[in-house]
Amino acid sequence: MKRFNKKEIRCLGGTYLLSFAPLDSDIDLRGESVGMSNMLVRTIKIALDVPGEQQKDTLLHELVHIADWETARPVDRLDEADVVRLSKALYAILRDNPGLAEWIASDDQ
Ligand SMILES: [Zn+2]
Repeated sequence: MKRFNKKEIRCLGGTYLLSFAPLDSDIDLRGESVGMSNMLVRTIKIALDVPGEQQKDTLLHELVHIADWETARPVDRLDEADVVRLSKALYAILRDNPGLAEWIASDDQ
């Protein structure tokens, strides 16, 4: 499995420290602990002992939490089901369109 090798992720003006480690929070739909983010100290932790596809899905999930935290008023924040729905949809779109994320992020017209 090819692991994302950057240790920092820039997210809406903040830099989050990314690590892969055993976890005990942010439960997935099967009740497994797969990811955790802390917006106050800007860390993202992803479970080390799950398949790579689940790590990617989880990282996207945590980034949706962070985007929500950084952009929404507290009363308007998404609930966990919203985050799951949006992150799963974005993950499916990215998986169905290889190169899409690179094109969006590029300077190409
Ligand atoms: Zn979550």
